Order: sequence, then structure tokens, then C-alpha cells
Amino acid sequence: LVVLDKVNKHFGDLHVLQNIDLTVGEGEVVVVIGPSGSGKSTLCRAINRLETIDDGSISLDGVALPEEGRALATLRADVGMVFQSFNLFAHKTILENVTLGPIKVKKVPRKEAEAEAMRLLERVGVANQAQKYPAQLSGGQQQRVAIARSLAMKPKVMLFDEPTSALDPEMINEVLDVMTSLAHEGMTMIVVTHEMGFARKAANRVVFMADGRIEEEAQPEEFFTNPKSERAKDFLSKIL
Ligand code: ATP
Ligand code: MG
Repeated sequence: LVVLDKVNKHFGDLHVLQNIDLTVGEGEVVVVIGPSGSGKSTLCRAINRLETIDDGSISLDGVALPEEGRALATLRADVGMVFQSFNLFAHKTILENVTLGPIKVKKVPRKEAEAEAMRLLERVGVANQAQKYPAQLSGGQQQRVAIARSLAMKPKVMLFDEPTSALDPEMINEVLDVMTSLAHEGMTMIVVTHEMGFARKAANRVVFMADGRIEEEAQPEEFFTNPKSERAKDFLSKIL
């Protein structure tokens, strides 16, 4: 579904993505881990075209990602993204946050968009907060709203960039639970996270990045119990 072919990206002298080849099949859940600065966020942002690439190609469903224009807006609807910071619109209610994209971008009638939004808020467990504003919700609730907002666009793939790292510990699981159920329902997901429990439970594959390269790829059990590269061994010894 998502295919990266020899993707390279520089920030000045820094070669932040080096010949990245990565294929994510439909319904597959790929967890990306690696040290700080290894290029994980840049990789996500490149897939969503929030970041340009220097060469190589990224395609979604067999279609190369567009650089700009109307096609780019369509692409952004197909690729949902959830960040560390929840990025909800502060002056809009929870319900409005979730309906805005479908109404504005997909021209879904308001009534229909609201019904779908309520269904999604129900699914992530915050339907009773629909009329509140983001600041009135906990971090964990806001992040679940952010997930519902992405799902409202009916994306083909969901990208998560450290979605729980800004949360208080007691809220991490409520977000991971939503992500785990999405994974089990067959959503295609690329998840940057250091939550190894999630990786074990939900990932089909772990991708380990270091210095802008994919150092190692393996199934979670295999990766965690028997990492091959020194970099991965070193990294795991620090976080496990
Ligand atoms: P972390 O685990 O800390 O989130 P990461 O793996 O997500 O790290 P990136 O955010 O992708 O790493 O950054 C990779 C490298 O690129 C870092 O050295 C970072 O400083 C650099 N970088 C990221 N964005 C930019 C930018 N817009 N301009 C210049 N350098 C950047
Ligand atoms: Mg990052």
C-alpha cells in the first residue's frame, strides 16, 4: 500500500534519510523505533508530504505522491497523521474538530459528518465530551479525539509519531488501547513509538532506524529477543 523506494533527504549537510526502502502492505502495522535524531519523524513527514524528499519515490496505492496542488490535498486525506502534540483546534468544540475536515475537504453534508463523528468519538471513548473544547479534556482524551479526527477522513493509512510521549503515564494505555484495536481491525499503520508493549501486541514488523538508515527490520519477537545489529542491541539495552 505504501512503498518507499530509495528515498533520500538532506537538511543542509545532514543526510537525514539515506536510501530508505520500505514497503507497508495493506492492513500491516509497522512500528518504527530508533534513537533520537535518527530520522523517524522526518520519515513520517515525508510520507505525508509535510517534508519534501530529494530523490527516490514514495507511492500510495500504486500512485506516486504528488508534490503540490489539489492532488496533495487528496493525498493528505488518505494519509492520517497523529502527532505527539494533539494539534486540535482550540477554539472549536470536539465535535467540530472531527467534522471540519469531512465537511470542508470532502464536502460531506453536516448532518452526515456529525453522525459519523459521534460514531468515531464513541469508538475512542469520548462521545460524552463532544460539546466541550480541547482545553477541557485530559491529554489522553485529546489524543483520542485527534485519532477520531484523522479517522473521519477515512484514511488508507495512519501515521503515528510518538502519540503517547507527551502523555502522563496513566493516560498512555487508553491511547494505546485505541491504537491496538485499530490495528486489529485491519488499519494500515506506521507507528513511531517507544512503547514496546504495543509493538509486541500490535506490530507485524519492527523497523529500527539509526543515522537516517533502516538498520534492521524484523518481526517484533525476533527483534526484541534476537536483535542482529550492534546499534539495535545497544538501543534495546537502554530502553528495555
Ligand atoms: P526523535 O526521537 O528525537 O523524535 P527523530 O528520529 O524523529 O528523533 P527527526 O526529527 O526525524 O528525528 O530528525 C532527524 C534529524 O534531522 C535530527 O538531527 C534533526 O535535528 C534534523 N532535523 C529535523 N528537522 C529539521 C529541519 N526542519 N531542519 C534542519 N534539521 C532538521
Ligand atoms: Mg521524532
